[in-house]
Amino acid sequence: MRTHSKLIIDCLTKHNNMQSDDFGKDVKLKCLLWSDRHCCVCGKRCGLDIEVAHIDEKRKEGKSSQDNAIPVCYKCHADMGRYAKWHPRGNKYRFEELKKRRNQIYEGYTSSLIPGILAVVHPAHGEKSFQLPSVGFSITPVGLFTPINARIAVRVFLGGSDLGEIESRKPYYNGKIVWNLNPGLTFNGNFRLPDKCAEGKEDLLLELKITVIDPYERKHELLPVCYTYNRINGFWFLEPTSFKELKHYLKQKTIQKNFSDSNQV
Ligand SMILES: [Zn+2]
Repeated sequence: MRTHSKLIIDCLTKHNNMQSDDFGKDVKLKCLLWSDRHCCVCGKRCGLDIEVAHIDEKRKEGKSSQDNAIPVCYKCHADMGRYAKWHPRGNKYRFEELKKRRNQIYEGYTSSLIPGILAVVHPAHGEKSFQLPSVGFSITPVGLFTPINARIAVRVFLGGSDLGEIESRKPYYNGKIVWNLNPGLTFNGNFRLPDKCAEGKEDLLLELKITVIDPYERKHELLPVCYTYNRINGFWFLEPTSFKELKHYLKQKTIQKNFSDSNQV
């Protein structure tokens, strides 16, 4: 009898250890807030009956990190590790799928917390306020929302070479400092490019990456976009893609001519 009781206690202890005890309070709190206590596999609302489990139980580095944590119901937790290699049926849960499914659930319960972001590099078409190497920048959160934070990183490319992110005394444009975005405010700023950007005739591009941080500290990375400088008419125009995508086309010698001709995407 005594042995039986000890076995039950051991099993319960082992089960509890498996689920979440080695995740810190902060990791668990974020998991539960970001999922709104829904299972990140089946999507069911769990209330109290939810566990924070490891996606990769055998992972060594960062085993109890936010990246390796997933809130799940009891049934899905059991299913995550259940797959008979000797008699394969169905499809097992792979780590990559679990992470993407978890992020899909998180997104569903946090995307409404962030506003639209209107970010513009100046001078835009028709403006005369800034001349290279000075560049203007404005950002306006759009819509109804509670105050949020953002990190902004601007990377410079000249003639296809990466000149790195914008460095300045106040690191507003290299992602090192958070912006406080309050409702109803537009922030206007400026930064300076390396002098050779103003002197050269090569293609000049800025890649803009904005990460919005919601009130529950979840990061929402917006897709990167580029601004190309039209040297003929002196303004920046928006490219709806990243430098990585554009790079191949920039190698073609006709690109500068094409930019000059169209001034648009
Ligand atoms: Zn579930």
